[in-house]
Amino acid sequence: MNGLMQQRQLLISDLIEHACAHHGEREVVSHLVDGSVYRYTWHDVHARAKRVANAVGGLGVAPGERVSSLAWNTHRHLELYFGVTGSGAVLTTVNPRLFAEQISYIINHSESRYVFFDTSFSATVEEIAKACPNVQGFIAMCGRDQMPDIAIRGLRCYEELIEAADTKFDWPRFDENRASTLCYTSGTTGNPKGVLYSHRSTVLHSFGTCTADGFAIAARDSILLVVPMFHVNAWGVPYAAAMSGAKLVLPGPWLDGENIYRMLRNERCTITLGVPTVWLSLFDYVEKNVDDTRRREETQLTRVVVGGSAAPRIVIEKFERYFGAFVIQAWGMSETSPVATVCTLLAKHQSLTLDQRFDLQTLQGRAMYGVEIAVFDDDLRRIPHDGKTAGQLKVRGPWIASAYYKNEDDSAWGADGWFATGDVAMIDPDGYLRITDRSKDVIKSGGEWISSIDLENVALSHPAVQEAAVIGVAHSRWQERPLLVVVKKPGNNVTSEDIIEFMRGRIAKWWLPDDVVFVESLPHSATGKLQKVVLRQKFSGHRFSTDLSDLTSMSRP
Ligand code: ADP
Repeated sequence: MNGLMQQRQLLISDLIEHACAHHGEREVVSHLVDGSVYRYTWHDVHARAKRVANAVGGLGVAPGERVSSLAWNTHRHLELYFGVTGSGAVLTTVNPRLFAEQISYIINHSESRYVFFDTSFSATVEEIAKACPNVQGFIAMCGRDQMPDIAIRGLRCYEELIEAADTKFDWPRFDENRASTLCYTSGTTGNPKGVLYSHRSTVLHSFGTCTADGFAIAARDSILLVVPMFHVNAWGVPYAAAMSGAKLVLPGPWLDGENIYRMLRNERCTITLGVPTVWLSLFDYVEKNVDDTRRREETQLTRVVVGGSAAPRIVIEKFERYFGAFVIQAWGMSETSPVATVCTLLAKHQSLTLDQRFDLQTLQGRAMYGVEIAVFDDDLRRIPHDGKTAGQLKVRGPWIASAYYKNEDDSAWGADGWFATGDVAMIDPDGYLRITDRSKDVIKSGGEWISSIDLENVALSHPAVQEAAVIGVAHSRWQERPLLVVVKKPGNNVTSEDIIEFMRGRIAKWWLPDDVVFVESLPHSATGKLQKVVLRQKFSGHRFSTDLSDLTSMSRP
């Protein structure tokens, strides 16, 4: 017997309808490329998203067809998030930090019919236009007086386009499994792969992130969305913000420490989200310019979601000390919408000391309702949740991808529906996940595994270390040993020995890096992740001092 409940499809258009109907006066604040600030409300987002839906239809984009965006976090991008998807078309958000060839690959592969772009990316658009012959037009996300002076076919002005479109639009109702957005993984090797989200997966993921043990996003929150809208739907937060009716602050291209601090203060932000590296520049600014009392008085921050890479302990500590804010570490990937696990506390953790609590917060957290996680050994047997044994992390659930767009490379999916994440992890008896490495980054030393993430975490706690990466380098006796690559804070003359001494006692002795090398900067991917492949190539010829002594000792009579 079926239940007698209404079959209302879960559609993104209902999120913006709800935000308008119940939180219409709540503000959305957008920092634009030209430095100006545009303030309006969810009511206005709703009206303009409807104009976008009409405009997109007027351009001849049919339901299911794709349009791309190449844009910062601004109100216009937000309007595309709701207007394009609500109309039934699919929004492909492209990361402008990728190489031109990757950008044109994504636009062509997704068969996007139009490209919306922020004027900061005019040169990129000019460069790729010829390589994207099927794109019918490029829409500059600005007013008529800011139109870029570039020669490309079908150049249009966003404001003119939507000005001419009606605000009346009846959102079509359709199957919730229809596609809504398409995001590409960075593809460190090979071409980027498309993850095609549905209305249903997006709405369910928003419910998840709004829960108290998710990000607890509420109507009274003011969110500073630092995580880019061109990467994995900005962790789904634009949709969760509409679901909860929170105030949304969009920083545009202004992502340096000073601007982030200014926005946190001026917009009375209670929660912000981003990858670890952006927070380091915030701390730099704050340490030099804002004293403790002022910082506490001026800001209202209560929590910071950190993900995309492991949240270093020092970031967790500094948010607590400087702002009184709790770091919520989250783990996920493009294929998981992206949020799959979130690190919040259990009742039994209320009595932890601050130090113990910080340790707990360095874990990637527990599975959200809806996501199953498990670790498997090389023979595909499940590993017990003992918090000690590492294996291949797999996930499944209603907001986990079931295939890549156009079905390319399905090797990550097993017959049982589990998706192999490519991460190496352990799960403790309370269900907390600890990511130790990407499987390709694991350091194999004498048959044991060393976690580069743990080593980086300890190195980053050294006051003279700005950034740290640990890679495995060949060792004649141990197969591989860890090499620590460090960017020093300016004006420091810390030595390798100082750093090794600092790490001693904070980590198992046999995990200590065999050498430390200093570099000016570390290579990062377009999504801000350390590119260890590049480092491994660069240091492939590195000869450890320990390796040499091994050889000497072996040659002794
Ligand atoms: P890409 O597009 O490069 O695949 P994703 O954003 O999908 O980028 O990256 C996902 C990967 O990032 C995960 O598989 C994991 O290795 C890493 N990652 C994400 N969050 C965390 C975290 N909290 N701790 C450690 N690693 C993380």
